[in-house]
Amino acid sequence: MNIERKVKISSSIRKTEQKLPQKKSPQTGTVVRRTKSFYYVDVGEATPRLCRIRGSLFKVSRHQNKIAVGDEVEIDLDLEEDSGWILGILPRRTKLSRRSALGVPEQILVSNADTLLIVASLRDPPFREGLVDRFLVAASCGGLETLLILSKADLSTVSEIKPIKELYSSLGCNVLVTSVPESRGFDSLRQLISCRTSVLSGHSGVGKSSLIAALFPDWGVRIGQVSKKSGKGLHTTIMAEMYPLPQGGYIVDTPGIREFAPLVKLEELDKHFVEFLPFLGQCKFKGCSHRHEPHCAVKEAVTTRKITDQRYSSYCNLYDSL
Ligand code: GDP
Ligand code: ZN
Repeated sequence: MNIERKVKISSSIRKTEQKLPQKKSPQTGTVVRRTKSFYYVDVGEATPRLCRIRGSLFKVSRHQNKIAVGDEVEIDLDLEEDSGWILGILPRRTKLSRRSALGVPEQILVSNADTLLIVASLRDPPFREGLVDRFLVAASCGGLETLLILSKADLSTVSEIKPIKELYSSLGCNVLVTSVPESRGFDSLRQLISCRTSVLSGHSGVGKSSLIAALFPDWGVRIGQVSKKSGKGLHTTIMAEMYPLPQGGYIVDTPGIREFAPLVKLEELDKHFVEFLPFLGQCKFKGCSHRHEPHCAVKEAVTTRKITDQRYSSYCNLYDSL
C-alpha cells in the first residue's frame, strides 16, 4: 500500500474516531505471530506490523490471550512507525484452545485455522493414541478438520500401519502415510495443505520439521524452531507463528501444542468421540459418564468391539484428567 493511501486511511480513521468514538477502524489484518505482549499483524504490506492492544478497549489480563494467531483484527496504523494498535477483533470461524496452566479458563492457541495436522510416527517414538485422541477432541471442539499423518513409515511394516489407518479413517479422519527418505505421501500432503491454514501438531521427534522441510526444500522456513527458541524477554517468547506457504495457504507452528489438554466440558466429552454417538442416550442413567455406571450402552459397545479398547481408554483418561 502506498504512503498516500495509508495517510488517507489513517486520517479518515481519525475523523471517524473524533465524530463517533465508539466506531471501529475499517482497516483489518491477520495476526500472524504473537509474543507475550506484541502482535504481528499482516495488513498486506511487505512485513507484518508490530501491534499492541489498545488497553482501554480490551480488558486483557496478563495471562489471558484475548487475541490469538490467526485472528482477524481491526487496527489503527501508526504512520510514523511500522506499528499499530489493535482496536477490535472480528468473529472467529474456528479455534484451537487449551486449558491454561495458569488458572485461566481458556487459552486460544490458534484461531480461524482450517485443518489440524496431527503428525504421529508408529515407531521412534511409538504411536501414542492418547495424544492423537486428545488432538482429535480439540479439533472437534474448535470446528477444525483433521488430517492424521502417520510419519516415518519406512520404520514400520504394513501390518503395523494398516489397523491404525483403518481405525482413524473409520472415525472420519483423513489419514496419510508419509516417509521422508522415501518421499512418500509428499504430493498428497502438498495438495491437502495448499490454500488452507493448517496447524502442525504432534509429539516432539515424530518428524514434523523434517517433513515440512522436505516438502518445501526452497522455502527458507525451518518449522519447529519456534519451540526451540529460548524465551529472552517479552519480544522473543513466541506463542505461535503463521508462515505463508510457497503455493498459498499457511502453516501454523505453536510450541503450546506439544503437550496439551483440550478445553472441553466434562459432560460433553463423549460427543467428541464420534463412534460413541450412536450409543449416547441409550445408557440406563441420564448423564452417564460411561465409566462406572451399570447398563451403559457405550461400555456394551466396547464389549462387542464396536468401540475399540484404545479409544475407550483414551476417553477414560481424558475424562479423569478433566
Ligand atoms: P520434530 O520434533 O517432530 O520436528 O521431529 P524432527 O523433524 O526433528 O525429526 C526427529 C528425527 O526423526 C530426526 O532425526 C529425523 O531425521 C528423523 N526423521 C524425520 N522424518 C523421518 C522419516 O520419515 N523416516 C525416518 N526414518 N526418520 C525420520
Ligand atoms: Zn454410558
